[in-house]
Amino acid sequence: MTGFTPGRRWQPAYLPFQKETFGERALRVIEYSVKGPLFGCRMCGNCLLAETALVCPMECPKGLRNGPCGGSTSEACYVDQSRPCVWYHIYDRSFKWGREDVLLEALPPLDWEKVGKDSWGAIIRNAHNIGFKKIFTGLLSAKTRAQTIDGILRPVRQPEWWNGDAEYHPPAYVEPASSLQGRLVAGDFVVTAELTPPLSASTEKLIRNIELVRNLVTAVNFTDNQSATPRMSSWACSTVAIQHGAEPVLQMSARNRSRGSLQSEIVGATALGVRNVLCVTGDSAKMSPSPRDQMDINDLDSIQMLWVLRRMRDEGKYLDGREIKHPPMFFLGAAASPFSSNVKFQALREQKKVNAGAQFFQTNLIFDVDGMELWLNELAKRNILDKVYILAGVTPIKSLKMAQKLAEVPGVHLPMNVLRRMETADRADNAQEEGIQIALEVISRIKTYHNQGIHGIHLMPVGWDEVIPRIVTEAGIVRRNKFLPQFMEVRSSGLGVPAV
Ligand code: SF4
Repeated sequence: MTGFTPGRRWQPAYLPFQKETFGERALRVIEYSVKGPLFGCRMCGNCLLAETALVCPMECPKGLRNGPCGGSTSEACYVDQSRPCVWYHIYDRSFKWGREDVLLEALPPLDWEKVGKDSWGAIIRNAHNIGFKKIFTGLLSAKTRAQTIDGILRPVRQPEWWNGDAEYHPPAYVEPASSLQGRLVAGDFVVTAELTPPLSASTEKLIRNIELVRNLVTAVNFTDNQSATPRMSSWACSTVAIQHGAEPVLQMSARNRSRGSLQSEIVGATALGVRNVLCVTGDSAKMSPSPRDQMDINDLDSIQMLWVLRRMRDEGKYLDGREIKHPPMFFLGAAASPFSSNVKFQALREQKKVNAGAQFFQTNLIFDVDGMELWLNELAKRNILDKVYILAGVTPIKSLKMAQKLAEVPGVHLPMNVLRRMETADRADNAQEEGIQIALEVISRIKTYHNQGIHGIHLMPVGWDEVIPRIVTEAGIVRRNKFLPQFMEVRSSGLGVPAV
């Protein structure tokens, strides 16, 4: 148990990768002996305590440095039920202290050269550069105190290669990057559908499903190893979709992806015609079958991915500052979670994603449309509804067992009456039909929010891909992709990707 973060438990500190001088080691030991007992410091070398209400975020098993994941609850971390969600504490305390807007600043990933080393040395050097006399007078006045402290701490948390802020950065291009963006800009009620990537190397079923839906929806989305379980990559499925006349949404999860692989993959994927990219943090490896992958820390989180990708596109720069002669072009999206943790916390996190670069959201599953409206109201208070397109996530429930499982998934709110309906239908051997009817009713209600925060539907049939045509037809939301040929032509020029 640590002094300022009740409920926190000890986790070992990182050690430096390189050999230290005697002075560096001495400073590290002193810093750790103070911050360890007080904050449970793990010596990440890139201290954020001043931004996170004095709760160290390095307990998070995903290593998130920009807020909670979609599975967070007030009770427990969804990766490790034995500990509380550290980000829930950070948000809770920041709201209580009236410092929640500090959380909007996009914070960088770890600089691994500094991990295991002290942060105090850099703070002392910054103070020296500013001048101790100037700092002393700045601290005396209430007007300049916060600014003076920030002047000392900012270079530690915001190195020049990152330079994050809490501002909104509108995209630096005008013409829609994809048909999905084109239809959203035109004000259409858009439909996208998630197709399940195959578990094998055969694309036969995948192609069949792409052909089944390509004339009914605007874009098809491929998950990136959902539940941390390996299957055909989103990138490969997206390429197959392009070859078969459908516009893909490439999903990229931070799990198992380094900053290097993210940048390299986006350049490759856009060169081959991908124009919609969805950044998610991704399920923890804890969800995967054994033997499990690394579960301690991701290199990036979804907000950092958005920040990196937006700058590659709009500023034509890699994270290391190298110029990109032909920057990648894409419409950038993120996941949104209307029902996880606290709606105020979630709205703040959504705003942070929009500021970092998210142009569209795909939400988690929606069964509770009234709850969705509460979330939209919070987004409106944060003034972001005119800055992002929102596709509401809808799933047809295939069985009572699936409904019971969904009721336990963090971030999903399955109202009791939906569960009761599925139980009754299951007894009458009619569960599938009832699941479809529930989905149609939810879509019908969501449609009433068109252009009042919601801009379309994202269908997630979770392996029941063949139900998509029936749902979009009966819901009256078939969206033939009139923009597609024009965009495919641009993509296919000289790249070996067949035009449609
Ligand atoms: S953010 Fe890093 S340096 Fe700061 S207390 Fe946590 S582990 Fe220690």
